[in-house]
Amino acid sequence: MKFKIKFFTTILIFMVISFTGCSLNDDSKPIIAPVNNDDITKNNIEETSVNFPTEEEIEEKEEVPAKNPLEEIDMTLNPNEMGEIMILMYHGIAEKETTWERTPENFRKDLEYMYQNGFRMISLNDYAKGIINTEAGYTPIILTFDDGRQNNFNIIEKENGEIEIDPNCAVGILEEFKEKYPDLNVTASFFLGTNIFGQEKYKEYKLKFLINNGYDIGNHTHSHNRMANQNKDEIIFELGSINNIINSYLPDYKVETLALPEGSNPKDEFLNDAVEGEFEGNEYKHVAVLDVGWRPAFSPFDTDNDFTNLYRVTASEINVDGCGITDYFKQYSNGKRNIFISDGNPDVVTFPKKFEEYINMDIVGDRILNIYE
Ligand SMILES: [Zn+2]
Repeated sequence: MKFKIKFFTTILIFMVISFTGCSLNDDSKPIIAPVNNDDITKNNIEETSVNFPTEEEIEEKEEVPAKNPLEEIDMTLNPNEMGEIMILMYHGIAEKETTWERTPENFRKDLEYMYQNGFRMISLNDYAKGIINTEAGYTPIILTFDDGRQNNFNIIEKENGEIEIDPNCAVGILEEFKEKYPDLNVTASFFLGTNIFGQEKYKEYKLKFLINNGYDIGNHTHSHNRMANQNKDEIIFELGSINNIINSYLPDYKVETLALPEGSNPKDEFLNDAVEGEFEGNEYKHVAVLDVGWRPAFSPFDTDNDFTNLYRVTASEINVDGCGITDYFKQYSNGKRNIFISDGNPDVVTFPKKFEEYINMDIVGDRILNIYE
């Protein structure tokens, strides 16, 4: 019922927009309309009386009435916001490549591949809320790091007493790419337990650096034990104690995501305690709970997506059974999978009609649906 009401509200909004000066075809298919200069210049003509404004003047004075956002979507880019999004699972960055450690060279190779092949990063927190700010025609990708290893964020003390971020730790390499490709939109989530990147004296510096530089922090539990074996009180302690440690350094930061150790799900009866709870007077609430493997996640707008059990892709080439990062990169480049392609407008959800039956209106919310044949 809820679905239907929301659906029809959306249709209604769509129709109102359609009938207020926006050009849509009769069959309501969105078209790419040329910008109508008469409309734009109407106000300016009175102000400049005789002389028509130059293009520069139009840009300066532009006070364009609200346009139909659907007209601005470039349909030639084949946007599909019901396609898959990869949530990459990294652990360590180290000299030897293993299932759980990626070399600095291979990590750089991953980032270079992403940039050159149309991937742009978004935060896991945004994904879970259906906020897709990715530029039109590009595919969102999400980076996660588990376990808070020192090689994720290592500080080097120089002889002159200054400190620098190790250029070959995860954060060092991410910062390198942030500078190299600003439009890669570098961000990542770091899942922490009691070990916060080693180096006790830099713990606070590192946590604050992450938050102040566009990264996120998630919960990876106190003991790293399998949650399937834990009862309600144990789960609340596992999550609440870590949440409180992070908040003791970052009082205003909300830890909104959880990566399950070993991908071990809680018993069904305790699932809600993994999603939200309170420990020693401080509440926690997770919008995304991450599993360990072995495939790309669904679109956040897809009813098949379970935010309490999100798939990840292992970012390694060792012992990944054909389900590692490069395997999926290959499948996407061969057109073998249904990939998410952004329409460029976070307030519009664009996708082919064949996916309509899977649309999750709870996540779509007030966004406008743009469905095409
Ligand atoms: Zn772990």
